[in-house]
Amino acid sequence: MTAERGERIDVAPILQSALDGDTEAIARAAKERDLDPDAFARLLELALQPILWEAAKQCAALTDVDKWDRGYCPICGAWPALAELVGAEKRRVLRCGRCGVSWSWLVLLCPYCGNDDHRTLGTLVSTEERPGPASPARAEPPSKDRVDVCERCHGYVKAIATFTSVPAVRLAAEDAATVHLDIGARAAGYTRPGTVDISTAGIPRLVREGRGAPDD
Ligand SMILES: [Zn+2]
Ligand SMILES: [Zn+2]
Repeated sequence: MTAERGERIDVAPILQSALDGDTEAIARAAKERDLDPDAFARLLELALQPILWEAAKQCAALTDVDKWDRGYCPICGAWPALAELVGAEKRRVLRCGRCGVSWSWLVLLCPYCGNDDHRTLGTLVSTEERPGPASPARAEPPSKDRVDVCERCHGYVKAIATFTSVPAVRLAAEDAATVHLDIGARAAGYTRPGTVDISTAGIPRLVREGRGAPDD
């Protein structure tokens, strides 16, 4: 039976698999319920978000998440959905699209493969005219948005100019409003994340070499 409009779907039994990112278990559960696996996975992510937002809030109260020195999210392990270039100084902050957490990150540092060689890091700039941003926090015109790319792993991270950090509940809207940047980056041959070695993924070169986190 296909899920009709208004039909209730009990997602509680499968939430742990969603939290663990167990795509096989999610696909199995979707099949049992006669649902589209991609749509079901997306629904589970939405159901998880309030739990992840709360976890992020509690972790932020216990530790300084802003100083996290890995490219993946300290709370839920996801890759950043986008980066913000905050304020007049354009401080680069990575944002997790799942739990909304943010952490500061160097401009010349790939969050996926840890590459910090400026010769293999670049920027794509959108020339397209776009409608206004999705969040009032973003006073900057969308023309200042860009995509940072890495020639080593061929990964990309969208970067949006914003006056103050976008609230977690508005991140998905901001991500969707800048989908033209994803399309442009993919057309240019970049992916999110890039192609990375699983054993070193998300770890900056200096941290791998035991020289600690790079200072901002
Ligand atoms: Zn997260
Ligand atoms: Zn890279």
